[in-house]
Amino acid sequence: MDLQALVRNVPDFPIPGVLFRDISPILEAPAALNHALEQMVSHVDLDAIDAFVGVEARGFILGAALAARFGKGFIPVRKAGKLPPPVQSLSYELEYGKATLEMRAGRGRILLVDDVLATGGTLTAALTLCERSGYEVVDIAVLINLVGLHALTFRGKAIHSVLVYD
Ligand code: 5GP
Repeated sequence: MDLQALVRNVPDFPIPGVLFRDISPILEAPAALNHALEQMVSHVDLDAIDAFVGVEARGFILGAALAARFGKGFIPVRKAGKLPPPVQSLSYELEYGKATLEMRAGRGRILLVDDVLATGGTLTAALTLCERSGYEVVDIAVLINLVGLHALTFRGKAIHSVLVYD
């Protein structure tokens, strides 16, 4: 199945000069969504993980769908001020300004999930937050990996990507 043909390329969104990859058409097509979920974990040893961690907001959609499909838990990483206390927080630099991610502390082996890996800032922060919160991050899975925008190794974790764009 050609998932890439379903990705909508939107120039100049959300700001001029950015080519936004819109995954909505994949989410709207049941066969494509199921295929995408299977591909995201096709090289993952599911017996080695207890839960999926998804990053707000589209990481929730894919992470929760993966959790339901493969019989695991789901743990959200949220933007600041959304989760009730107690939470662990981590602030990180954006191109302009700062952002803060939060999650509940816990235990277990997790697969960290998001829709798109662009500069890597979000997943790097989420990885650190997961580890500081007590989780063992086994690997990272994304639907789209914009490899031209980052050169990250994520501290030895494998990145499982379904679609790769230069
Ligand atoms: P990064 O921190 O890697 O630069 O950006 C990744 C985050 O921004 C992800 O949470 C992702 O949802 C969002 N993002 C960045 N670029 C795109 C894009 O082209 N399409 C979509 N759907 N999300 C993007």
